Amino acid sequence: MIENDVSLASITSVKVGGSCLGIFLPKTNEEFIEILTKLSKQKLPYKVIGNGTNLLFSDDFHPFFVISTRKIARKMSKKDNSVKFSSSTTLFEAYQFCMKYGLSGFEKLASIPGNIGGAIASGASCYSCSIFDNLENLTIFQDEKILTINKKKIESGYHWSSFLKNRLYSPTIILSAKFKLVKDDPCKIQKTYLDVCSKRRLNQPLGRSFGCAFKNTATQSAGFLIDGCGLKGLSCGGAKISEKHANFIINENNAKFEDFEYLINLTRKKVEENFGVQLENDVEIIK
Ligand SMILES: Cc1cc2nc3c(=O)[nH]c(=O)nc-3n(C[C@H](O)[C@H](O)[C@H](O)COP(=O)(O)OP(=O)(O)OC[C@H]3O[C@@H](n4cnc5c(N)ncnc54)[C@H](O)[C@@H]3O)c2cc1C
Repeated sequence: MIENDVSLASITSVKVGGSCLGIFLPKTNEEFIEILTKLSKQKLPYKVIGNGTNLLFSDDFHPFFVISTRKIARKMSKKDNSVKFSSSTTLFEAYQFCMKYGLSGFEKLASIPGNIGGAIASGASCYSCSIFDNLENLTIFQDEKILTINKKKIESGYHWSSFLKNRLYSPTIILSAKFKLVKDDPCKIQKTYLDVCSKRRLNQPLGRSFGCAFKNTATQSAGFLIDGCGLKGLSCGGAKISEKHANFIINENNAKFEDFEYLINLTRKKVEENFGVQLENDVEIIK
């Protein structure tokens, strides 16, 4: 079941990352649960990832297994105004499903390239809309058991959730999530989605990245602070701070982990020197 010719770089959006003990790409939920159970029973270390759009793995060897949910067949269902999605469902697929039924809640989030599991774990949000806003409950895999828990049982915040505290041994894994939405006009829902996409196209670069490198502070945008240090366009090896949006670092040309690490460290140092602000990483770095 381990994929021998798949690298960590190939399952992350920034296309950087070395090797690990083995990568699993299950195709069904049953297969996923079987892998989780086996690894947990054998007390082996593993990390479950979604679409790999918020991750920067180092180029080294990582002594744990990686399970990517990206290929698991999607399961989507609806009852009244509630929808349930398997963790592999992308935010865009969730939006499309909801729009069909005139349910509002995913039209802004759909512009984020993650899936339901990854979005909840990383506390995804954009344009004043958070994945937690309409979340009702979650089905999780924990200590070899499958449980449904209320949203109140998880800690959550801006680009953060208690799932990010997961360790490599017996982590708590999101299998599916239920959201309570509100009815709205499908045309209005679609318009909001298209407006958000236009805003992104205008302000954010295309290209291989992990989204924003740093979190905004309570009062200032990280991009504004980085731009204020004159760092736009700065490159190191194959990585470059975007000219379009200073908080994006792009893999322009076969960048190495150390190229990204250099730019991230330099940015943090310059912003602290110039503005006295300590930026916090938005990307999850796995060394
Ligand atoms: C172009 C671009 C734009 C972006 N814009 C935004 C934005 O506007 N707002 C925003 O919030 N983010 C943004 N991001 C970052 C990223 O897309 C989000 O954080 C997204 O929600 C991550 O989802 P993922 O499926 O890729 O998760 P991954 O990156 O694969 O994983 C993220 C974390 O979740 C954990 N995880 C994944 N699946 C599970 C699971 N089933 N159970 C338990 N833990 C799990 C992983 O172990 C990891 O710790 C952007 C990224 C890109 C590339």
